[in-house]
This record gives sequence, C-alpha cells and structure tokens, in this order.
Amino acid sequence: MTDPKYWDCDCKEEYIHKKSDKLYCSICCVDEHNQPDFTLVNLDKLTYAANLDYLKTIENHGEVTL
Ligand SMILES: [Zn+2]
Repeated sequence: MTDPKYWDCDCKEEYIHKKSDKLYCSICCVDEHNQPDFTLVNLDKLTYAANLDYLKTIENHGEVTL
C-alpha cells in the first residue's frame, strides 16, 4: 500500500510529509523527487498503526513539529 499524497524522507522520526505541505526536508536535506511515495508495506503492525495516527494528525493539522 502506498499513498501518493505522502512521501517519506530519511529522518528517523517525523519522516512522513504531505506533498501539499512540503516537498523538501531541511533536516536530512532530502527532496521528494528523489524519494518513493510513502509506503506502508514493509512496516510492522505497531509502526504501521503509529504511522496511520501520524498521517491523520498531519491531515488535520498540517506538518507537526515537536
Ligand atoms: Zn528528513
């Protein structure tokens, strides 16, 4: 399962970005064009659930900064 609305960068955390919000990660200096679409395929169940929660959060509130 991939979601074409999102992409993931190389950060260890907060690596899911919404394409409409952000196309470049200034933390790890990765450009969306060099990355595949966000994919949930290779994640274990806990990570998958956490990522879905995070997606819902950024869907509702935009990019989240901690
Ligand atoms: Zn990053």
